[in-house]
Amino acid sequence: MVTNHRVQPLPMRPEEGSGTGRIVCEACGEQFLVTVHSRARTTAKRVRYFVLGLIGLALAALLLWLTFDVAMQPDGPDLDMDPDIASWYGYTGIAGILLPLFGLGYLINARKYDGVGKLRRIGEDGTTSIRTAGHKLLPSK
Ligand SMILES: [Zn+2]
Repeated sequence: MVTNHRVQPLPMRPEEGSGTGRIVCEACGEQFLVTVHSRARTTAKRVRYFVLGLIGLALAALLLWLTFDVAMQPDGPDLDMDPDIASWYGYTGIAGILLPLFGLGYLINARKYDGVGKLRRIGEDGTTSIRTAGHKLLPSK
């Protein structure tokens, strides 16, 4: 028999810093650790994600601007001849794709991060594992 989705209460959110609490699954008796950050720390992290996201998008915009600026300079270096410029385009091409993706990812994280860390399973020998087959944290709302 398989039972899914037994709801366990999360450890109390600490007043400051962060705390790690233990959850025992009622369905199978396995034990898990989860780290919960205080409101202040959660907010600080969200701000950091937000800033990183903005930096990522700003860098992407800057790269685009530089690239077009280089491309449109009428008396700029000859693009066919200069390998530096060619590799510049290669790098900006990759960064121009990755930076907005990272930036957006951070911005989304900044919105939905709730200060609850990943679930870790405590093994028989006391070691923790990120493999939590069949168990997951649902976003708190
Ligand atoms: Zn279980």
